[in-house]
Formats: sequence, structure tokens, C-alpha cells
Amino acid sequence: MRTASDEDTTELAAARTPGAAASGSLLQVSGLHSGYGNLPVLHGVDLAIATGQTAVLLGLNGAGKTTTAQNICGSLKTWAGHIVFDGQDITRWNTKRCVGTGIVMVPEGRRVFPGLSVGRNLQVGAWSQRRDQDWVDQQLEQVLTYFPRLRERLNQLAGTLSGGEQQMLAIARGLMARPRLLIIDEASMGLAPVIVKDVFDIVRRINADGVTVLMIEQNVGALEVADVGLVMERGRVVRTLVGDELRDRSAVSEALMG
Ligand code: ATP
Repeated sequence: MRTASDEDTTELAAARTPGAAASGSLLQVSGLHSGYGNLPVLHGVDLAIATGQTAVLLGLNGAGKTTTAQNICGSLKTWAGHIVFDGQDITRWNTKRCVGTGIVMVPEGRRVFPGLSVGRNLQVGAWSQRRDQDWVDQQLEQVLTYFPRLRERLNQLAGTLSGGEQQMLAIARGLMARPRLLIIDEASMGLAPVIVKDVFDIVRRINADGVTVLMIEQNVGALEVADVGLVMERGRVVRTLVGDELRDRSAVSEALMG
């Protein structure tokens, strides 16, 4: 069984996707420290995702996955370390700038606006382009090709959708910003297995169309869509899983349990 130390995480992640070595890492996080108030949560996170990959950041409750994602998308301050996106150091960027460069996060718990229609929720996702209605309309058309059920429900209040539909809406809203890196936090949480499969199928299609994806999951089943699995434990990425390791349930469980 092949394993990776923190030092060769970058190399392994880049090696997984054909052509990735040439295009390099889209996202590179090194030595990331962060936390809340005086509470340190991240203790030197290292990870890399190559352009075009789907990465799954996997870990138990409280491992620091969401905290890592919040640093990447500029919603939480980085205490130390570096975040580089497409060759630019974005460590100190705020969320607006991150969205502007193509980093979009679909938050845990969906957080759709229940009192707004599906269509309005989607328009909120394209907020930064709101003055260009043609751009928004074009993007809406593009996004709805993935979500025919949302197209049928454009005028329905988001709060009346099922849990699975709300998760689809949250992903669709994220896509409205035309991301280059889409971070999806706990998409499978609370959904029936059959709906989780639909969500993973959508992620596959989005990725196949060129969007790099970072999924944050406690559900090891998410590794079925992964090019690279990043196992997080107590504020660090402790293992990188590639190739056959991603399908080897015992290796994954072993990695998760430390
Ligand atoms: P989960 O799957 O439960 O979301 P996670 O791996 O995403 O887990 P984080 O949400 O990053 O973990 O939380 C890591 C640690 O930071 C936990 O101990 C959590 O209690 C703490 N934490 C998270 N958010 C806050 C906050 N807003 N204020 C204080 N502590 C927080």
C-alpha cells in the first residue's frame, strides 16, 4: 500500500491527473495555521489540487475540514502559511476577491434562502455579475442543464424543496458564479443514499466539464468520485490517497482512524 508523507503531498496530487504535472497545481496550501479567537484549529495544513481534479478532504468531526475551506475561500483569517491559487498568493484575500478569481464555496447545511424562489436563489449566486443580465441569463441556462428538476421549479419557494433538491440548488447557486474551483462542504450530509448518488453524479459531470472540485466529507463513499483523497486529522492532512488506495475501503478506514 502506497502512502504519502506531508512532504510529497503536492507531487502525488499533481501526478494523479494526466497532464496535471504540466498544468501544475491550481490550489496549493502550505503550512496553514488558523483558528477561532485564541483557539488554534489548523496546525500546518499542506495540500495541493491539480487543475481538473476532484479532491475529497475527508476526516472525522472537528478535524478542521471546514476551517481549511474557510481559509481557502477567504472567510477566515490565516494565522500563518500560504494559499496559492493559479500561481497567485491569495492568503490575505477576502471572500469577494476569492469569488472574483473563481473560488466558490457551497456551505455546509445548504443555506438556501427559503423565502425566495429557486430562480431568485440562483440569481443571488451570480451577484457579482448582476449588472450584466445577458451574462446571468446565459449562466442560468448553462447551470440548469445539470439540474432539470430545478428548471421545473424555478418559481417555487426554495423552502418548499426536499432536502436533496435544496442541496442541488445550493450547488447550482455556487455554479452561477462560474467557479474554477468549487468547494462543496458536506454535500451528502442528511441525504438518502439514492440522493447522495445523484449528488455525486452531478459532481462528476461538473468536474468533467472542467471545474476543479474540492469536496469536504465525512462520508468515505465520496472517494468514489475522487482523483485524490486527503485525510485530515487534528488540524493536519495526514495522508494522501491516490489510485487503488481510493477504492480500498480498509486502507481508507485505517487512514481515518489513524
Ligand atoms: P465537521 O464535519 O463537524 O464540520 P470539520 O472537520 O469540518 O468537522 P471544523 O468545522 O473545521 O471541523 O471545526 C474544527 C474545530 O474548530 C472544532 O473543534 C470546532 O468545534 C471548532 N470550531 C469550528 N467553528 C468554530 C467557531 N465558529 N468558533 C469556535 N470554534 C469553532
